[in-house]
Amino acid sequence: MLGLMQDRPLLISALLEHAARNHGGSKIVSARADGSLDRHSWPQIAARAARLAHALAKRGVQRGERIATLAWNGHHHLECYYGVSGMGAVLHTVNPRLFPGQIGYILADAADTHLFVDPTLVAGAEALADRLPASLKTIVIMGDAGDIPAECKLRGRFEVLSQEELIAGEPDSFPWPDLDERSASSLCYTSGTTGEPKGVLYSHRSTVLHAISTLQRDCFNIGATDVVMPVVPMFHVNGWGIPYSAAVAGASLVLPGMKLDPASLFRLFEAEGVTFSAGVPTIWTALLQWLRADPSRRFARPPRLVVGGTALPTAINAGFLKEYGVEILHAWGMTETSPLGTTNARKPENAAWDADRFLDYSRKQGRALFGVEIRVRDGEGREIPHDGVAFGELEVRGPWVASAYFNRPGDPAHTADGWFRTGDVVTVDALGCMEIVDRAKDVIKSGGEWISSITLENLIMGHPAVAEAAVIPVRHRKWDERPLLLVQPKPGMTPSAEEILAFYEGKVAKWWIPDAVEFVESLPHTATGKLWKAELKQSYKDRVIG
Ligand code: ADP
Repeated sequence: MLGLMQDRPLLISALLEHAARNHGGSKIVSARADGSLDRHSWPQIAARAARLAHALAKRGVQRGERIATLAWNGHHHLECYYGVSGMGAVLHTVNPRLFPGQIGYILADAADTHLFVDPTLVAGAEALADRLPASLKTIVIMGDAGDIPAECKLRGRFEVLSQEELIAGEPDSFPWPDLDERSASSLCYTSGTTGEPKGVLYSHRSTVLHAISTLQRDCFNIGATDVVMPVVPMFHVNGWGIPYSAAVAGASLVLPGMKLDPASLFRLFEAEGVTFSAGVPTIWTALLQWLRADPSRRFARPPRLVVGGTALPTAINAGFLKEYGVEILHAWGMTETSPLGTTNARKPENAAWDADRFLDYSRKQGRALFGVEIRVRDGEGREIPHDGVAFGELEVRGPWVASAYFNRPGDPAHTADGWFRTGDVVTVDALGCMEIVDRAKDVIKSGGEWISSITLENLIMGHPAVAEAAVIPVRHRKWDERPLLLVQPKPGMTPSAEEILAFYEGKVAKWWIPDAVEFVESLPHTATGKLWKAELKQSYKDRVIG
């Protein structure tokens, strides 16, 4: 017998309508490149998204058609989030920091017909012109006519107009279609840290379920009185879903634009009363250093932060909490998981731990959110014991986990029984808390045993002379692979190799300690700010130690 409840589809347009109807008093603040701010309300954003949907429909944009953006966090981008997906087309957010070849590849793979470009990225788009695919007809500059350069090199081959011209004169409301909730809504490519970028195609249903789930207290914990600032870019896994979460909660949004330096962010935190923000560790590390440089830099009201995307050095967590009263929640996820998978919030078993004990524990990525099941299996396919020691590959499934990649039907990312293989090597402890020990491709296989490069990197980040570090495998005649530690010292510091290696003693098994240290001026990063291990391994591929 079926239940007798209404079967309304879960749609992105419903999120916007909800916010516009019930939360007109919340603000949407958007920073321009010159630091000036645009201010809107949810009803105004809804009207502008409706005008965009009309304009696209008039141009014949079909359901499922891919519309790309190359943009920072701003209100024009937010209007694309809702206008494009709401009318049934697919919003394809492209990371402007990718290499030109990757951007060309991604746009061609998605067969985008329109490309919305932030005014600050027009020169970049012009430089890309030769790589833009034949499917692309129209370039929309995300501003007004004055934002289009007089001699725009994209003109001629493409129709070029501004977003304000595009939506001018269109009606303020749109009859949002009752789409099948499983319809595609947005497309985001993995940043290619470990290979070619692959497209993850989200649905309305997955996006709405994910958004509702992020509001839980042990996740983003957002309500209508919150002022939410996604520092994580809107081209990276839908800004971790925050533009949708804020609409469900009816919260205010602060979109920081292209300037993510600590001074610009701090100004927004204070001037707009930001209560919640999310970003990768590099952003918060820079903010902490900047705050410490001047004792007058204090938050009037400490915000809550969520951090994820790459390992969180606990020294950052400790610095924010102890010196500024700012709590950081550590989260894990991937493009393929929308992205929220786990958070490390307290449970009854560790509720009473003192701050130091929990700070140390917060290096772990956490426990599954409702909606995400996690399973960890060893090389033989056996589930590992939950003892915090045994390693295995993390597998996940759930309604906001990818079931396949766009245009790659045979990609072997899933197990025979349908779980997504994350490529993350993890332990799980008795509290069900998962800790990433490495990516499957980065573990160091020394004489048949595994060494976690991430553990070694995290530990050495605690050394006072180390600004950043990477551990990569290099060839060894006897042990196959051994760890090599690459250290970028803090400015003005010249630690010795012996002193650096001695720091590991007593903290890891002796055989885990790297065989050698090299000091470097800088380490390479991917477009999403992660250490680019593939590049480092390539540079050191001929190195043999021992
Ligand atoms: P890419 O795979 O191109 O790096 P993603 O943004 O999808 O792009 O990255 C997902 C990966 O990032 C995860 O598989 C994991 O390895 C890493 N990651 C995400 N969150 C964390 C975290 N909190 N701690 C450590 N690693 C993380």
